[in-house]
Amino acid sequence: MAAQETVDQKYVYDFSEGNKDLKDLLGGKGANLAEMTNLGLPVPPGFTITTEACQAYLATGREPDGLAGQIEAHLESLERAMGKRLGDPQDPLLVSVRSGAKFSMPGMMETVLNVGLNDQSVEGLARQAGGSTGQAASGGNDRFAWDSYRRLIQMFGKTVCEVPGEEFEQALDKVKSTKGTTNDLDLDADDLRGLVDAYKKIFLKHTGREFPQQPREQLDLAIRAVFESWNAERAVLYRRQERIPADLGTAVNVVTMVFGNLGPDSGTGVAFTRDPASGAQGIYGDYLANAQGEDVVAGIRNTVPLQELEQLDKTSYDELLGIMARLEEHYKDLCDIEFTIERGKLWMLQTRVGKRTAAAAFVIAGQLVDEGLIDLDEALHRVNGAQLAQLMFPRFQLDHEFQPVAKGIGASPGAASGTVVFTSARAVELAAEGKSVILVRRETNPDDLNGMIAAKGILTSRGGKTSHAAVVARGMGKTCVSGADEIDVNVPAKRFTVAGQTVNEGDVVSIDGTTGKVYLGEVPVMPSEVVQYFEGSLDPEHIDNPLVRAVHRIMTHADGKRRLAVRTNADTGADAARARRFGAEGIGLCRTEHMFLGDRRELVERLILARAEGEREAALAALLPLQRADFEQIFREMDGLPVTVRLIDPPLHEFLPPLEQLAVNVAVAQERGEDVAKEEALLAAVRRMHEENPMLGLRGVRLGLVIPGLFAMQVRAIAEAAVICARGGGVAKPEIMVPLVGAVQELETVRAEAEKIIAEVVGDSGVEVLIGTMIEVPRAALTAGQIAEAAEFFSFGTNDLTQMGWGFSRDDVEGAFFWRYLELGIFGISPFESIDRDGVGRLVRIAAEEGRAARPGLKLGVCGEHGGDPDSVHFFHEVGLDYVSCSPFRVPVARLEAGRAVVETGGSDSR
Ligand code: PEP
Ligand code: MG
Repeated sequence: MAAQETVDQKYVYDFSEGNKDLKDLLGGKGANLAEMTNLGLPVPPGFTITTEACQAYLATGREPDGLAGQIEAHLESLERAMGKRLGDPQDPLLVSVRSGAKFSMPGMMETVLNVGLNDQSVEGLARQAGGSTGQAASGGNDRFAWDSYRRLIQMFGKTVCEVPGEEFEQALDKVKSTKGTTNDLDLDADDLRGLVDAYKKIFLKHTGREFPQQPREQLDLAIRAVFESWNAERAVLYRRQERIPADLGTAVNVVTMVFGNLGPDSGTGVAFTRDPASGAQGIYGDYLANAQGEDVVAGIRNTVPLQELEQLDKTSYDELLGIMARLEEHYKDLCDIEFTIERGKLWMLQTRVGKRTAAAAFVIAGQLVDEGLIDLDEALHRVNGAQLAQLMFPRFQLDHEFQPVAKGIGASPGAASGTVVFTSARAVELAAEGKSVILVRRETNPDDLNGMIAAKGILTSRGGKTSHAAVVARGMGKTCVSGADEIDVNVPAKRFTVAGQTVNEGDVVSIDGTTGKVYLGEVPVMPSEVVQYFEGSLDPEHIDNPLVRAVHRIMTHADGKRRLAVRTNADTGADAARARRFGAEGIGLCRTEHMFLGDRRELVERLILARAEGEREAALAALLPLQRADFEQIFREMDGLPVTVRLIDPPLHEFLPPLEQLAVNVAVAQERGEDVAKEEALLAAVRRMHEENPMLGLRGVRLGLVIPGLFAMQVRAIAEAAVICARGGGVAKPEIMVPLVGAVQELETVRAEAEKIIAEVVGDSGVEVLIGTMIEVPRAALTAGQIAEAAEFFSFGTNDLTQMGWGFSRDDVEGAFFWRYLELGIFGISPFESIDRDGVGRLVRIAAEEGRAARPGLKLGVCGEHGGDPDSVHFFHEVGLDYVSCSPFRVPVARLEAGRAVVETGGSDSR
């Protein structure tokens, strides 16, 4: 969607013109730079080119009319404010050109620094930059200026003109090796001057032109390159992974350069107002003296903890702490910031509401409530089901047998074991074979994104909590240990050494993203404390675990808010009991087919293949007490809560021997001259019942109508089990559900028989049995008004409804071609995972409305996989279902999301 171009459209905003709510237009970085400017914080002056300009550029391949003039005007006013001109040979204004989309995409798009330097202004910069402590003995700062110039040519060449970055790296390495050093800081001005010559030659060789000397041309080309970087391969991949819409475009920030690499009284850093890993209060950050911001994020040199800045420059440190406190209070949330100190003067380069781990999200939300900055509704809004699900992952079970071989920084929590790989490509390869892999690198860069997505965990030997590896892994919820500097990584040799041991590609390691510890071999895992809390073994009021207390508090609020009830899909007493501890308020789907497997399979086979009535009746009579016992156990566990039992619904072939196998056995036996009369009869029956498309064949209600007595036996078992419970003093609330109904007549036929049996069994026991249906065939959704006449409840089977709504075989398509559909953006997520609101969701909506119109008060639920998917839960809330039902482990997620759905729709609904 390209923005509509109008003649007077405003494409450029001075920082003083924007604010934090203009992220759509100014991107996150631009909007927040504007906000900080207006708060009076020290932000280097600059302006932002809007996302609309980018959208227009990407749609037409040229800058929209009016943009060039607006840039000119804003540049002039910036020059006036700074008292310098862009690229002035005497005293140049230099700017950085930075991307900044609405949603943070760390390192995925381009930045060009030092724009405005050329063969003349580099000399001016050297003169102006002189006089730093410990630098520039003769009044100038040649080293700094030439280093800045070589950085410009390198970044500009790579970003704007696609010159291969390695060639610049190789030229730099060559100068360093001639000099006998590995440290950039050992290069002097002459070395760097020589490097600029070498870089210019590389530039000329690849582009066929000299490095542009016109500052304005540099600026325009850099802006264009940032626009284009929106569609760079890694950015596209990242957006797909993070589900960021592809049409937003990026804004471009043109910011006055400030330098953290002017000497020891300069530096740069990144900080969080609370610990983004644990949520603990107190500032957290990394500082690197005498460096540019990019050096920190790339993890190129190891940083020191921010607290050490207090010794280095107390004035700046105190000012920074004051600003951080102010930002937290202003944004009412954890903020992360980037700053630079240029010769003792603090500059804020960026702030945003910071990314955090799942644990930190809960802990911080709780703290902010305590601090009176937000209320509990807002706290609920600030966490989500995906985070809660992450907290329910197990952790390592460590005993003395496992000693860490290294300790890095716990950059993104969780526990991961896997095969060591050293390249992104190998990670992808092994993951495709189903292996768990740990991607080991010195540091990662945006080109490693594919491998990071494929890996179970990421281990780096360099970089802090704010390095690329850490930021990206946290965003993905993936385990990461960064900066484990005892590990010596040798990528070409595919090995690393640590504590005197060598670990080769293919060996197994385990990494703990919470403690930062690294273990050789596979470490067993233990359950999460959050799960223990849900299971009732941790009392939140009496343990000193801030995470469990925060989860308890927010879950309690969600439960108080939500309108949707949450049930579980469970077919055994054990599952039912566990789900109940997790907060399930009933069973929404008890699938009965597994009750026909194992020892009972043979009885079912006899039942299906029976030729004579007596045979079938004998099989049913044998099954009845077994089924009754199954249901009794479940009703007991769910005492007092509704239990929806679905009558049998497997495709037939699941109960019959495989046709090919049977045919081979018969042929072999015949060959041996054995008596195969019985096997032949079985083979003939299996052939008769063979289906090309069993998912659309004889299953569900169809099976019940074809095999006399099957559903009747189940109905009897359910009713009898309920009566036994009632007579024993319990309360059983059975709801019998008929699967795969497409026409009301099917349901009426089953219902008529079931009602008779129920009346006969329950007598005066007080047991009440409801009869309802699944809505999982599109025709049922479209004739819901008729079907409701015969149903006391509907439960949406969104697995089959998706299968039949899209015509996608649910067992085949995800592996077969979904990757391509995702790549093409036909959908952003599998419709089997998250409800397709427009299509399948519409069927749900129609059925809900028409069902309730025909039978007011009709009970509505969902029991397909979508019942535990966060986004789908919001949809089911919106369409007015009464409950969602999901697997036991997802019950807490559904409870949380059902509460969030109320808060987010602005409702004050509570139960
Ligand atoms: C469904 O189709 O959504 C459903 C719950 O039934 P099953 O998955 O057993 O087909
Ligand atoms: Mg189904």
